[in-house]
Amino acid sequence: MNISITRTTTPKAKPADQSKLGFGLYYTDHMFLMNYDEGLGWHDPRIVPYGPISLDPAAMCLHYGQEVFEGLKAYRQENGDIKLFRPDRNYARLNLSNDRLCIPPIDEAFAIEATKELVKVDADWIPTAEGTSLYIRPYIFAVDAHVGVHPGKHLIFAIILSPVGAYYPEGLNPVKIYVESNYVRAVKGGMGFTKTGGNYASSLKAQAEAEKLGYTQVLWLDGVERRYIEEVGTMNVFFKIGGKVITPALQGSILGGVTRMSCIDILNSWGVPLEERAITIQEVAAAADAGTLEEVFGSGTAAVISPVGELRWGDKVIRINNGQIGALSQKLYDALTGIQWGKIPDTFGWTFDIN
Ligand SMILES: *Cc1c(COP(=O)(O)O)cnc(C)c1O
Repeated sequence: MNISITRTTTPKAKPADQSKLGFGLYYTDHMFLMNYDEGLGWHDPRIVPYGPISLDPAAMCLHYGQEVFEGLKAYRQENGDIKLFRPDRNYARLNLSNDRLCIPPIDEAFAIEATKELVKVDADWIPTAEGTSLYIRPYIFAVDAHVGVHPGKHLIFAIILSPVGAYYPEGLNPVKIYVESNYVRAVKGGMGFTKTGGNYASSLKAQAEAEKLGYTQVLWLDGVERRYIEEVGTMNVFFKIGGKVITPALQGSILGGVTRMSCIDILNSWGVPLEERAITIQEVAAAADAGTLEEVFGSGTAAVISPVGELRWGDKVIRINNGQIGALSQKLYDALTGIQWGKIPDTFGWTFDIN
């Protein structure tokens, strides 16, 4: 399929100060769009000037939330080249989400090509300052004008781009996380393993309440017993206890992060003992009491590695590594971002060239 390109005649001014990009505040000059219509399949791929999308007020995505998304990044290398980090994993996951939400699958190889084309068109938007990148947001939503619950037959696949800095204002400084014992994000059999707006809609209230108490995000526990640790808001979570790294196993209600998968591969390559298994908040609290809880960190595309300096569970406040980033968290951050920014060789074959 040929992607048509219509360039803007009114390019926007780019953010002047790359040290103040924040996250998700600026969007580039172009976007990718493609339609699905029953009988026609996915068709009409196009890159057009960034701008509002007109929808029928009855569009199904607005009423029943039939929507999926992805998040990945393009990185400017020191020599000027541009690389994507594991886009194959993101589009494979998008199709997993599609399947769960009755959205017709996309051609993963074509989606990678479309992403590369769009990034090329807006390449001069990729920031170059230390710690910055171009966040890529692919998403699909149902647009049938029909207030009735059934899978949409008409959808839009869009990709937008945002130059970003650090996800958290804290940067690599440890964040404070609130262990959520009241609200739940997902349960087995639900949509927890997918990237869909609905999972985030259900998280907003817990997030807002945690923020009021001075916490950056919440740590979700399982929806049945409120014991087993699931993940942090937008990140998977790892614990280093007595020299061993433990991360919750994927069992249906947790998102399988690309960063999580990459951390596991890197830790294995270093010979760090690692377990993917069920872990309870009680086990973590007991380890903290025993002095064996060494590090806690989150992993996700947006923040890459985010050290956790404090966990609050009910009345219990667990300080981790004196509120400092741990040695392993720092080493993982350096290894991952080293590969992403092309500062160290990509021996895993994770980066995709754009040219
Ligand atoms: C996107 C996301 C993650 C992190 O996944 P990555 O592929 O590493 O970016 C973790 N948890 C949730 C709920 C997410 O939406």
